[in-house]
Amino acid sequence: MLILMNFRATLKQTGEVLALSESLNLRPYLSQSQGRRVVALTSEDAMLTARLKELPGVDEVRPLGSGIKLTSRHFRSDDGVVVIGGERGLRRVSIGHESMVVIAGPCSVEDRETLLAGAHAIREAGGDMLRGGAFKPRTSPYMFQGLGVKGLELLAEARQATGLPFVTEVLSVDDLPAVAEYADMLQIGARSMQNFALLRAVGETGRPILLKRGMMATIDELLMSAEYILATGNESVVLCERGIRTFETSTRNTLDVAAVPVLRQRTHLPIIVDPSHAAGHRDLVAPLALAAVAAGADGLLIEVHPDPDRAATDAQQTIPTKDFAEILRKIRSVHKSVRSCEATNREKYEDDLEQQ
Ligand code: PEP
Ligand code: MN
Repeated sequence: MLILMNFRATLKQTGEVLALSESLNLRPYLSQSQGRRVVALTSEDAMLTARLKELPGVDEVRPLGSGIKLTSRHFRSDDGVVVIGGERGLRRVSIGHESMVVIAGPCSVEDRETLLAGAHAIREAGGDMLRGGAFKPRTSPYMFQGLGVKGLELLAEARQATGLPFVTEVLSVDDLPAVAEYADMLQIGARSMQNFALLRAVGETGRPILLKRGMMATIDELLMSAEYILATGNESVVLCERGIRTFETSTRNTLDVAAVPVLRQRTHLPIIVDPSHAAGHRDLVAPLALAAVAAGADGLLIEVHPDPDRAATDAQQTIPTKDFAEILRKIRSVHKSVRSCEATNREKYEDDLEQQ
């Protein structure tokens, strides 16, 4: 249930709601929505609802039957921002609320020279953050599985050399301590979106999480997976649309561009798009990236490699670092136009309101 406090409710009154919840062994989640405090509880108990309604300062108690609670705009009305890096000389990256954070790097970490060459080129081109897989989810057990901890060490070296934080995938609860020791942001891959034990475990680390949509998952299921992380008390979750399976075979997956505005309406969590895994072909990555920016994405995750034809994984969809700067220029330019259109619309709306 959602407990909506009165606009004039005092801190003490909110404290009484929290104390009652805790006395019943329920964990209360506190937020702000449209200028007032909101408390979410994972119970829909009718007796408790009646008791809460009696408390001073409580305006309304709303059932939230669907289970989508902490990710919902009802719980938090403004756009959330997830911060990565910022300490020990690292760049501070904020994803959300009209940002355009571009995360780039190879599908997998292969060797030191290639990773460092790519990372320097990405920073020089204006990329914000690095990506690279050390633990790879592969369809076949006989294919390259990633360098594991060695890959994490190389990513840490690339971070040190460029000052850019990095995101990398964590495949299992067993690998989590090692990945969390190195990574600035933990990626839950499409295939792990409903690995609920892993979602809880990454949530408990308190670290920023990049949650990718499963290739067969609905938007509701994606939000429910995010709920698992938020329910641990970790609010630093960024959602990622990366294409879903459809009957279409021209692309590796079908980029669900509509997911961006749908998610924007329903959740305060930042939303980024991975055009690489959606496209499956490198010449489709730039147009899909631009479509994602126009649809309102807060960032992009792009596979980039100095010599993509030699990449160990996802070679076909990886763009050469030499093309990255030009694609990034287009991304920034579309983003600027989208923001200025939104600002003009907002001004017009405010003028209209004033004249009414
Ligand atoms: C990746 O980003 O490297 C990856 C494996 O993506 P996905 O989980 O979306 O397939
Ligand atoms: Mn890949």
